[in-house]
Amino acid sequence: MTKLQKVANAIQTRTGLMQEAGTCVLYGAYSGYTLYMMPFTAAGAYQLHLSVRRTDGVNPDVNLLKAAVKAEPAITNVMASNTHVTVSFRPKGNPENIAELAVRGLNFIVNWCYQNGYQSVCEKCGQPLPAEVVKVGLGRQILCQTCFAITVQEGEARQAAYDAKPENVVGGVVGAFLGSLIGVALIVLLGQLGFISAVSGIVMAVCALKGYELLGGKLTTKGIIISIAIMLVMVYLGDRIDWAVSIARQSDYGFFDAFKLLPKFMEADMIDSGAYAGNLAKMYLFAALGAVPSILSAVKGKKAANTASRM
Ligand SMILES: [Zn+2]
Repeated sequence: MTKLQKVANAIQTRTGLMQEAGTCVLYGAYSGYTLYMMPFTAAGAYQLHLSVRRTDGVNPDVNLLKAAVKAEPAITNVMASNTHVTVSFRPKGNPENIAELAVRGLNFIVNWCYQNGYQSVCEKCGQPLPAEVVKVGLGRQILCQTCFAITVQEGEARQAAYDAKPENVVGGVVGAFLGSLIGVALIVLLGQLGFISAVSGIVMAVCALKGYELLGGKLTTKGIIISIAIMLVMVYLGDRIDWAVSIARQSDYGFFDAFKLLPKFMEADMIDSGAYAGNLAKMYLFAALGAVPSILSAVKGKKAANTASRM
């Protein structure tokens, strides 16, 4: 069991909050407040989120909160935006200690809210209606039933608008090409500095895919395949330019001759073809490292960003 999971379980035992499987997010009603606690480091540091407003309609004052939490060493930071209050807890000691501090901080905030007349409200409409913690995109929100239904509809409308948007393949190809040039420039630049870096491969993949989406209107499966094809060519090109620059710097050949004659140099064993192939293989591996998460997030992320659901 990971340390984070241990902390999550220990907080759950102490508070009776619900726990979302897989994410260690704790949520539910606590002392009359709808709230959730999200881990923000793997070591078990937690942030508390709640949405409160005073009965006279006044949102929480961050300066008052900051002054108040000085008295509680379990709390390291507090932020407020409209009705949403975010509180960071000190992640000190073993999982039991961390959970204890988090619960101490939680109790401190809930008591402070209660004593100062703040009640739990929906963070969209600000009304003190029964609210629940829901997933919106990659984040969580505290919403009343009406606002949750509106948020679901808004997400569906955004997704439908994206799906209906025509794909401009020519624009996409230009975009992917322009994006990949940034990757080529980095391959050559870093190559000349003596690095074969994963950075250039990752940048190549991200920029090519983003370029396609930007000028093509959206990134479809077709767009992904085209972008990958462009990346394959451009990685090869970047690597070959890098070699040509190196040869031009170390010999009497000009850059263009060196670029053109590279296969001949290898035949003549002036360049170790094993080193060349190894170098190129590494560049392809790095580009794949960058491309796979970019593609996954492009495919899943767009849908997830437009999805609102119950926990
Ligand atoms: Zn609402």
